Amino acid sequence: MNTFSVKAFGTASPEADLTQLTIARREVMATDVEIDILYCGVCHSDLHTARNEWHGTIYPNVPGHEIVGRITKVGDHVTKFNVGDLAGVGCMVDSCRQCESCREGLEQYCENGNVQTYNGHERFLKQQTFGGYSERVVVDEDFVLHIPDNLDPAATAPLLCAGITTYSPLRHWNVSPGKRVGIVGIGGLGHMGVKIAKAMGAHVVVITTSITKVEDAKRLGADEVILSKDTQQMKDHAGTLHFILDCVSAAHDINAYLSLLKRDGSLTLVGAPENPLPVAPFSLIPKRKSFSGSMIGGIRETQEMLDFCGRHNITSDIELIKMQDINSAYERLLKGDVKYRFVIDMASLKE
Ligand code: NAP
Ligand code: ZN
Ligand code: ZN
Repeated sequence: MNTFSVKAFGTASPEADLTQLTIARREVMATDVEIDILYCGVCHSDLHTARNEWHGTIYPNVPGHEIVGRITKVGDHVTKFNVGDLAGVGCMVDSCRQCESCREGLEQYCENGNVQTYNGHERFLKQQTFGGYSERVVVDEDFVLHIPDNLDPAATAPLLCAGITTYSPLRHWNVSPGKRVGIVGIGGLGHMGVKIAKAMGAHVVVITTSITKVEDAKRLGADEVILSKDTQQMKDHAGTLHFILDCVSAAHDINAYLSLLKRDGSLTLVGAPENPLPVAPFSLIPKRKSFSGSMIGGIRETQEMLDFCGRHNITSDIELIKMQDINSAYERLLKGDVKYRFVIDMASLKE
């Protein structure tokens, strides 16, 4: 297997800062495309993984799964992309393609385990996969997305994870006109959830811990905003929502949010805090409520989401940073000090 070297940013241990290193990529094979990475979003999952908060991180770890770039090479059998195309890569770069989930286009739930963009097992190089905090990436064309022409490429990068992770459960739970939908945690995922749920026609209620986001949430599309630390506001809205999407990255009392659901309402968790979240039986039983989870979205649905965002002119609100600023960006992310997604300008790594 022929390989080539690229510059990347990664970490050698849970406690270490991210620093520049060199990684190997495979040369394009028949169905691969090579992408020159222009922008990569900074997802909270990058931080959870770099710091081994979910356990099982393989070091060195190069995070990054919100990738937008330009195609520089295509394999002999590539049919969907040409050199020069703008392309996206999200959280997965492969799956078994044969199991029931893969055949249904739900590769994220591949029964044999999908190959994650980073911290997965590179099938051909016998090494871990390395993510988008790097100059270039090589991916099978079946796991590469087309980027709508009318969207700003930097602000589109976060759609590849934050966009699809919120779009997929909103679709699955039939969010549409007439539905009252709560979005909890207005970070990278949550702010996309607000924009997408609004575009789907729902009445959108933001539930935030941050007083600084109350006004801003309305600009993003919220019809109402609840400050979750204000118990009176929470009481006033009890039993009013059909669906809640929980996008919170840290420990929080799930029962307080379940109280906002109507009878037969449902709360779906996409946020993935390090430790278990205790649910009281009587938060669910008396009004037949559901509590569920959802993971990113399949490739077909990711393209559907990108096309939906193209039609509705939806992108992420971003703060562009240099690759060298990633460690301070992680500290700010932990404090909720970003409106609403850091995106790395990968030109900074190439300087
Ligand atoms: P983020 O930008 O850091 O946003 C998280 C938000 O959670 C914060 O902005 C804050 O919103 C809220 N929050 C933080 N601490 C809180 C606390 N103690 N109590 C209540 N709310 C709190 O993170 P992100 O990138 O959007 O990711 C969110 C979570 O989703 C992470 O755990 C990430 O790993 C996970 N994730 C899951 C999937 C999936 O497939 N399921 C995909 C991507 C990411 P307010 O200021 O509004 O309160
Ligand atoms: Zn992510
Ligand atoms: Zn599969």
